[in-house]
Amino acid sequence: MKESAFIDTYLRVDEDGDFVVKSSPCPFLASDNTCTIYDERPSDCARFPYTDEDVLIKRQALTLKNSEFCPITYYVLEKLIQ
Ligand code: SF4
Repeated sequence: MKESAFIDTYLRVDEDGDFVVKSSPCPFLASDNTCTIYDERPSDCARFPYTDEDVLIKRQALTLKNSEFCPITYYVLEKLIQ
């Protein structure tokens, strides 16, 4: 599939200007909760929740948002506050 077709089919631009999937749950999530494109998944999927990157500090609004549903992000923030 060409990149432009992939973008048209699966992605939209969110309020922060980032590409995100159009539907939730992700269209690549299988019924057994595995990723059907795991070996070629987007870098954001591979890097999430960014706990070993400066993204955790530099994009604080994103980190706070992620902490609402991602337990490890919440835990890391709790430890940083301590
Ligand atoms: S790893 Fe990314 S592409 Fe794969 S199912 Fe999860 S959100 Fe979708």
